[in-house]
Amino acid sequence: MNSKPYSLFIFLGALGLLLTLAIYFAAQDQKPIVKLPFSAFVSKVEAGAVGTALIDDQLVKGMLKTGEPYEAVIMPSERLSLMMLKQGVDIQVQQQEKQQWSLLTMLFAAFVIGLLGIMIYLRSSGGGMGGGGSNKLFNIGRSKARMFEPNAVKTTFKDVAGLVEAKEELRDIVEFLKNPEKFKAIGAKIPRGVLLNGNPGNGKTLLAKAVAGEANCTFLSINGSDFVEVFVGVGASRVRDLFAQARKHAPCIIFVDEIDAVGRQRGNNAGGGNNDEREQTLNQLLAEMDGFSTEAGSVIVLAATNRADVLDKALVRPGRFDRVVMVPYPDIKARHLILEIHAKNVPLADEVDLFKIARGTQGMSGADLENLINEAALSATKQGKKIVNMEDFELARDKIFMGAARKSEVMSDRVKAITAYHEAGHALVNILLPDASPLHKVTILPRGMALGLTWFFPAEDTEYNKSAAQLRAEIMVAFGGMIAEKITYGHSETGVSSDLQGATSVARRMVLNYGMSSLGPIAFASLMSRGYGDAAQVSEQTAAKIDVEVEKIMNACYAEADALLRANVDKLGVLAKALLEAETMHADEVYALLQMPPRESFSFSPEKPKEVENSPEEEKVRE
Ligand code: ADP
Ligand code: MG
Ligand code: ZN
Repeated sequence: MNSKPYSLFIFLGALGLLLTLAIYFAAQDQKPIVKLPFSAFVSKVEAGAVGTALIDDQLVKGMLKTGEPYEAVIMPSERLSLMMLKQGVDIQVQQQEKQQWSLLTMLFAAFVIGLLGIMIYLRSSGGGMGGGGSNKLFNIGRSKARMFEPNAVKTTFKDVAGLVEAKEELRDIVEFLKNPEKFKAIGAKIPRGVLLNGNPGNGKTLLAKAVAGEANCTFLSINGSDFVEVFVGVGASRVRDLFAQARKHAPCIIFVDEIDAVGRQRGNNAGGGNNDEREQTLNQLLAEMDGFSTEAGSVIVLAATNRADVLDKALVRPGRFDRVVMVPYPDIKARHLILEIHAKNVPLADEVDLFKIARGTQGMSGADLENLINEAALSATKQGKKIVNMEDFELARDKIFMGAARKSEVMSDRVKAITAYHEAGHALVNILLPDASPLHKVTILPRGMALGLTWFFPAEDTEYNKSAAQLRAEIMVAFGGMIAEKITYGHSETGVSSDLQGATSVARRMVLNYGMSSLGPIAFASLMSRGYGDAAQVSEQTAAKIDVEVEKIMNACYAEADALLRANVDKLGVLAKALLEAETMHADEVYALLQMPPRESFSFSPEKPKEVENSPEEEKVRE
């Protein structure tokens, strides 16, 4: 991979020259110097045997006429000087004030300084002196891309769950790299660059690897931050080198991960620091992407980012990254598949239902799901179990969503009782409303910031679409906690704040986004966001009407939930007391306690309903 060994030759050449010089100068001093006593020196001068003399204060150095070098310490005197002149000695006098450095000394100093510089560079770049590290200096302008030969990457599209559309688009690219003639024959143009855009952990890097594995061509992988160095010009030279390398190995895929590190909008100095360098690097990248267009696209650039919004507009122009592939959070089906892929090597109990887990992990990325399985396996190991059961998944999911239970936290009896009524209120409103999401479990164990929680399963069809009745039920369930406190104690406390916030935001969305109010089918939200921030594109009167509508929804829901709980106040008391005792109850246990027919069984291990918990799903959380 030594595509540019020149710098190495130059260095070796310079080193050789230095050594030659050093040896030459050393040779000059090689002949043994005759040390003459003063008297002997004077005699030699008198005898006319001295050829040259360099006088440095008391020291004389020079050549005898025989060619022998000599050295003598003298008492300088006018007489001696005159005698030397008379004898025709070639006299030079060393200037006294200034210490003269010999050329050799200077060269040697330069060499040592240079050597030190190299050592410091190697140290700071973490390479150490040994092995490949000592090549680092010569590689500074080289791309740091890792190169994979065809067939080296074993990842394929099979390892990527879901992401159907993304895979479809990328399959085109793979097809093209394998079979360019087919595409050229019909004059199809294949994009030069494909940008994978999506939140962290959803499989962008994984997809890129799979493309490499499928296409069976050379794959150059580099991280955007690898271009960035302190020295201006280094990044640009690395980009040049990267593309040169790619062209040499065409057909070839270049993958630039986290491209936002170099691809940010130019001329925005907000980041401070080394902007010249970044701009040069980006400009070089743009130039290279334009440049290889002539070669009919045997090099394709894949890039990944989770910040497509900050990328320079020039990057996403046609001819560059003109195809953007979204890599979204997995939906329920994709979550199920991801869980299946990553659970392959984990011994699961029969009771483990990955589809149920998928249902209860809305909002988790692929990486989160991988982590969930790992946490569940850890939980099983900690308890000395050989297989992972639902309880482990439940614990793992709770931990990831809310942080570990604060078991050590001791709540006062008063707070515990209020929390029990509060959560019982949420849970009871929930099971009394057919439109509410099915109850999953309710607990008064503090977790994260919350004192207690009531969890629901998202109804199967609500991931993308909800009815007005379902939204109103959400608001009523949120009010349940506060109303239960009021019914029981005559007042409510500060624990209700996030419930109210959630309810308000649902009501606002109903009015602003979904046209679910008497203001009619208008998306006020899009009117309001047309300007910047809230620079309202709706009139003050309309804004006031919106507020009134939100209030109407909130008040109506509150009244309805209040009536519902007051009519069932006996059940509220029973449930709250049971919660105080059990601390955590599953939906099945709640239904059994209240002697109501369960709406849907969500117990993961119906054989042992007394166990604390067994399942991991819920979308909505109420404190
Ligand atoms: P990104 O690059 O988008 O931040 P990664 O590709 O690094 O995310 O994903 C991290 C890990 O999560 C992957 O190594 C993989 O194990 C897992 N993962 C993410 N999405 C998927 C998916 N769709 N199918 C299978 N595994 C996935
Ligand atoms: Mg990544
Ligand atoms: Zn609450």
